[in-house]
Amino acid sequence: MNCDNSTDRFAILTDAFDREHLWHPYTSTTHPLPAYRVKSAEGCRIILADGTELIEGMSSWWCAVHGYNNPVLNRAAKEQIDRMSHVMFGGLTHGPAIELGKLLLGILPPELTHIFYADSGSVAVEVAMKMAVQYQYARGLASRTNFVTIRSGYHGDTWNAMSVCDPVTGMHGIFGTALPVRHFVPQPRSRFDGRWDPEDIVPLKDTLERYGDGIAALILEPVVQGAGGMWFYHPRYLEEASRLCRERGILVIFDEIATGFGRTGKLFAYEHAGTVPDIMCIGKALTGGYMTMSAVIASDKVADTVSDNYPYAFMHGPTFMGNPLACAVARASVQLLMDSGWEAKVGAIEMQLKRELAPAREYPQVADVRVLGAIGVIEMKNPVDMATVQRRFVEEGVWVRPFGRLVYVMPPFIITSSELSRLTSALLRVVSEQ
Ligand SMILES: *Cc1c(COP(=O)(O)O)cnc(C)c1O
Repeated sequence: MNCDNSTDRFAILTDAFDREHLWHPYTSTTHPLPAYRVKSAEGCRIILADGTELIEGMSSWWCAVHGYNNPVLNRAAKEQIDRMSHVMFGGLTHGPAIELGKLLLGILPPELTHIFYADSGSVAVEVAMKMAVQYQYARGLASRTNFVTIRSGYHGDTWNAMSVCDPVTGMHGIFGTALPVRHFVPQPRSRFDGRWDPEDIVPLKDTLERYGDGIAALILEPVVQGAGGMWFYHPRYLEEASRLCRERGILVIFDEIATGFGRTGKLFAYEHAGTVPDIMCIGKALTGGYMTMSAVIASDKVADTVSDNYPYAFMHGPTFMGNPLACAVARASVQLLMDSGWEAKVGAIEMQLKRELAPAREYPQVADVRVLGAIGVIEMKNPVDMATVQRRFVEEGVWVRPFGRLVYVMPPFIITSSELSRLTSALLRVVSEQ
């Protein structure tokens, strides 16, 4: 097995207890891929147990936009923990929730006015979907319980979130009839920076015409499909899709959990189209990667309709809703982002990624190269061997975790141009060996 390979100089960095007893994301307990032991993390570097420094290319899955061990976020956490780390949100409120809420409403579209704090991205998606069903129920349309989405999406791993993930990459087959069956339409093929092909919207139009009476909402990731395929599609799709849904009283949910907080070059990806959804989910970079927290933000229309009709309340309430510690760090993180000149930084990262990843287009192994904001993707013709590729990246001194045919980076916004060059040259080198 790879982790027992004595020629692997990083084998000492894996841990026997971890390998025997700790389940990692999407891994086997009997044939786990190596998990490298981390001692600490600082700025744009992950420091392994033996002192090896890796340049962070993943932002810990979209989260750590300010890098690690940030003094401002550390202070916010420490100050809040000395006051209270948690109180229940039922019947109580507190400064961190209120201050974070004010900050968020100041940067979100003015149509979105009501914030529901939740625990994680997947839970936010569950909440948004429940909200859409309750909205339709409140309007007397109790049969509108289903959802439509585009293929190759990713919305999380809990039950309903999984039901709207791509049925193939989300492995719906394994869960059989336990999983609700949603309406899937093809992924828009018009590229973000290409020509808009009106044919792209036709399948959604047909599906809404046929099944619209049973559909509560359309849910999708605006412009950038993340974990389901790292695909960037034309913003015009959002305008057309929203119009078709509005005509039929179907709500529009944008899952901005990965795209939010500057990653795509706009503060939120909906801004590429200027189409405001009825419900938006945010998470991941919300706390700068410090802890799990998400939020669902709804329009007056949705919130009032749900609230003014039976059961006169929205039926969800997580134990750790509005957790003060998470709210305090999120507030500090969002403020830091707004004060950081993120737009120029993301713009510079985008230009450098475009320039430095371009040579990969000529490689025979590569099917496509695409860059948007601080996201760079090399799509291979064939799936990469995870164990080998992961080790090669560690040998190159970078942290990049590919999946399937996709080798991609989304670094912290604080990355320097020389660090980014080391990241991109490692990408080109490792990709060329495949
Ligand atoms: C990661 C992600 C989620 C799920 O968030 P978790 O915090 O992992 O539950 C949902 N939607 C999108 C678009 C994501 O990228």
